[in-house]
Amino acid sequence: MHTCPKCKSKLEVQKTFNQKILFGCTHCKIEDVIDYNKNLDEAYLDFLLKFDTGQTPTKKESQNALEKEGLLQSEDKIKKMIGDSKIDDLTRSILFSKKHYVSHFKSIEESDPEMSSTVEDSGLDERIIEALKTKGISKFYKFQEDAIHDIVFGKNVIITAPTASGKTEAFVIPIMQKIVDSKAPRHSVHALFVYPTKSLARDQHPKIKGITDRLGLKTAVFDGDTKDTERREILDSPPEIIITNFDVLHYHLWHRTKFAALLNTVKFLAVDETHTYSGIFALTFIILSRG
Ligand SMILES: [Zn+2]
Repeated sequence: MHTCPKCKSKLEVQKTFNQKILFGCTHCKIEDVIDYNKNLDEAYLDFLLKFDTGQTPTKKESQNALEKEGLLQSEDKIKKMIGDSKIDDLTRSILFSKKHYVSHFKSIEESDPEMSSTVEDSGLDERIIEALKTKGISKFYKFQEDAIHDIVFGKNVIITAPTASGKTEAFVIPIMQKIVDSKAPRHSVHALFVYPTKSLARDQHPKIKGITDRLGLKTAVFDGDTKDTERREILDSPPEIIITNFDVLHYHLWHRTKFAALLNTVKFLAVDETHTYSGIFALTFIILSRG
């Protein structure tokens, strides 16, 4: 064990790539680079000897020595490396910590998702286009356009995109279009949107309703908080779209309730598997269309 001659705590020992060795005490902030000719213990003795005879470099001298040894970059070099990139405080503190040799630094700007055609040219129902324009949406992202196209043509689709990037529109719009085009009777459940939690389902409802209202389609949330009167209304005059969560769905399918019977007419199933299921960075929507 190599202890600090000043405070007796354990020294940090680090071999350098050029056959030298760095001893340092994090408490006393003393450090020295020693030639490493024979073995570690010899080097340690040299370090102690230098300390005893007052030859251990000052912090500033040691910094210069570390820079000379190529163990650290000078501040000038780091600044040059950063150039005119904008960096946050955390990155700055890491770069200037004097603890790491950063051989390369590059700042990559996060790019916006690729834009695609205009809402106007989408060929969607006029009322959908109007609803989108009211919401300030004039163009689709590429991934939205792809999803809309595929769903309209009856494909099963998985959409992966970051939070708040327009996934809801990507599956709600084509499903609306399909319902509008459908010859199946209204007042039957066409689509089921399943969210992992009650709060997420309730959260998305106004957003979905904003589009469906214009098309004269009804949406309803069916979950543990749905009042008896609302439940009866859903059963008596089914909405075209039902928004619910996994627990409720499981319960009703298992017990074969009246609500479960309503789902016999469902043609579109959208499952929102949020980060609560699949990790911090990705949201995944699975759309299985039976239509
Ligand atoms: Zn010490």
